[in-house]
Amino acid sequence: MTRTGLVQDARFQEHRTGPDHPERPERLAAIASRLASDGLTEACVGVEPATVDMAHVERVHQTDYLRRLEEACRSGAPYIDVPDSAVCPASYDIARLAVGSVLQAVDRVMAGELDNAFCAVRPPGHHAEHHMSMGFCLFNNIAIAARYLMDHHGLSRVLIVDFDVHHGNGTQHLFEADPRVLFISLHGHPGIVYPGTGYEHERGVGDGAGFTINLPMLPPSSDEEWQQAFDKTVLPEAEKFAPEFVLISAGFDAHRLDPLAPLELETPVFGWMTDRLAEIARAHASGRLVSLLEGGYDLEALAESTSLHVSRLLEA
Ligand SMILES: [Zn+2]
Repeated sequence: MTRTGLVQDARFQEHRTGPDHPERPERLAAIASRLASDGLTEACVGVEPATVDMAHVERVHQTDYLRRLEEACRSGAPYIDVPDSAVCPASYDIARLAVGSVLQAVDRVMAGELDNAFCAVRPPGHHAEHHMSMGFCLFNNIAIAARYLMDHHGLSRVLIVDFDVHHGNGTQHLFEADPRVLFISLHGHPGIVYPGTGYEHERGVGDGAGFTINLPMLPPSSDEEWQQAFDKTVLPEAEKFAPEFVLISAGFDAHRLDPLAPLELETPVFGWMTDRLAEIARAHASGRLVSLLEGGYDLEALAESTSLHVSRLLEA
C-alpha cells in the first residue's frame, strides 16, 4: 500500500482574493469535500502544515520583492504587482504556511515516511518570478521545493512536470540556466493562452540548455494529443534525465469545463498523466513524488480531477 501524504488546511482559505476572483477559497473547500466523500482524506496520511523559514524562500525570490509583498499585505493593498495577484492582510502568512507545508511533505518523503504526497495549497505558485508576482501566484512554491531538495537534501536531478494549462513562466525562468532541474511544461499555446510564454524554442540557457522543454498545445486540444506528447517527449526525456525526485505542478485548468482556458481535456487524462509520472518516480526516484495544486477554476471539474489524481497517487 502506497503511503500518500496529504497537505490540507482550512487556513489556506484565509487568503482572500475578493469577489469574482477565479482563484478563490471555495476551490479548496470543493477539493476537501470531494476527497472526504471519496474516502481519500482517510486513506492518505495527513501532513501537518508549518510556516516556512524565509531563508528557503530567499533562495528563490529577491528580498526586495518579499519586503514589498509583506508590506502590501500588511497595509491592506488589494493586489501586488498586477491586479490578478490579489492579496489580503493574511496573504503573506498564508503563503508562508502554504510553502512551508510543501517542504514538510518533501521532508517526509525524503525521510521515507511517505512514498508521495499531494499538497492542496493556495495561493498557487508557478507564475511567480524571482522579483515579482504574476497570475495569482505569490511565492513560487514548486521552485522553492526544488531548491530545497537541492540545497537542503543534496539532490542533483529534480524533475518538474507542469501540466497546468498556463505556462509555468516563473518556474522556467528560475531554473532555465540550471541543468539540475529538468522542467517540462504542457500548456495552452502561448499565442492564445496566458501568459504568452512557453514556446517550443525556449529550451533553457547556458548550462541549462536542453533542460527546459515546452510543449504548447493548440486549442481545443484533446486527451489523445496530451497522451501523445507524453509518449513522444515527456516520458523519454524524463527517462533520460533519471530524476531523483519528481515534482508536479498540478493545475487542472486544461479541463474542458474550466472557464479560464479553451482546452478540452476530460477528467480521466489527469489520472493517466499521474500514473505515467508515478511510474517515472518509481523507476528512478524510489517513488519519491510530491504534487502541488496550481490552477483549476471550475469547482466540480477541479474536485473531480483532484480526487482522481490523489486516488492514482494512492495506487502508485
Ligand atoms: Zn493555470
